[in-house]
Amino acid sequence: MRALELAQQRGLPWIVLGLGSNVLVKDTGFPGVVIRMGKGLDRFEMKGATAIVGAGMPTPILARRTAEAGFAGVERFVGIPGTVGGGIYMNAGCHGAEFSEVVTEVTVMDGRGKVKQLSRKQISFKYRSSNLEGIVLEAKLGLAEEPPAKLKELQGKLFRWRKVGTPFDQPCCGSTFRNPEGAKSAGTLIDECGLKGFTIGGAMISTVHANYFINKGNATASDVLKLIEHVRKTVAKKTGVTLELECKVIGS
Ligand SMILES: Cc1cc2nc3c(=O)[nH]c(=O)nc-3n(C[C@H](O)[C@H](O)[C@H](O)COP(=O)(O)OP(=O)(O)OC[C@H]3O[C@@H](n4cnc5c(N)ncnc54)[C@H](O)[C@@H]3O)c2cc1C
Repeated sequence: MRALELAQQRGLPWIVLGLGSNVLVKDTGFPGVVIRMGKGLDRFEMKGATAIVGAGMPTPILARRTAEAGFAGVERFVGIPGTVGGGIYMNAGCHGAEFSEVVTEVTVMDGRGKVKQLSRKQISFKYRSSNLEGIVLEAKLGLAEEPPAKLKELQGKLFRWRKVGTPFDQPCCGSTFRNPEGAKSAGTLIDECGLKGFTIGGAMISTVHANYFINKGNATASDVLKLIEHVRKTVAKKTGVTLELECKVIGS
């Protein structure tokens, strides 16, 4: 609230970030106020089968705590390295599940600091996007009872899949492109164009999963943007598919 007031008083643009796991910030930075959701906004409470969760709670912690409490619905998100607020705004998901399936209510603050509750019916979720505006503060999630041991076993399996199938421990912003409609994923299309390992400056297409572009240590945002353009052009030329960005580019 105070950050929004500051932005308004000074006529500055503002953005909200969670863990920054789905953003690419341009080399010139963001010329305004960055509101970071984290500790202090990470409430977690179970009321029956409803989880009440603060936007700043990391999604993997939500997945583990609900699984330990014996509730299913978000257990598969154990490897999504963002916050619950970022996850709901992006309608994050994996392994056939996404936030839209469990959200029952979202509390948002608009640019003037006004807080309101939106029911699920008032929110439109699509693949990796939503029509939410302003700042997600809190959400209610409708879960279902399931034995903790079963949920934890599944989480172990999914985590092992991530370790083998993605460069999960290297700096990147997750899936660079959205999966296009149709049979082939963005990663498969990029791989079939022979681009795994292709490098521009310090930015490289992962050799493990072609939709992950990793920072080898000294990549600038400009390197990553050039790599994105190169991939987009190459895939369009060779396959006829125009890839759309999933990660958010921030800055002017
Ligand atoms: C290794 C890796 C693996 C990943 N795997 C997956 C996956 O399996 N599935 C998947 O869907 N994603 C995946 N991602 C992408 C990313 O983790 C998710 O999109 C995540 O939900 C983003 O959360 P965040 O808090 O980091 O958001 P940020 O990156 O901080 O922000 C992303 C967007 O959300 C907005 N935002 C953030 N918080 C709020 C808020 N409280 N209110 C309103 N808007 C907000 C920001 O303005 C920005 O536009 C992966 C990323 C990495 C690096």
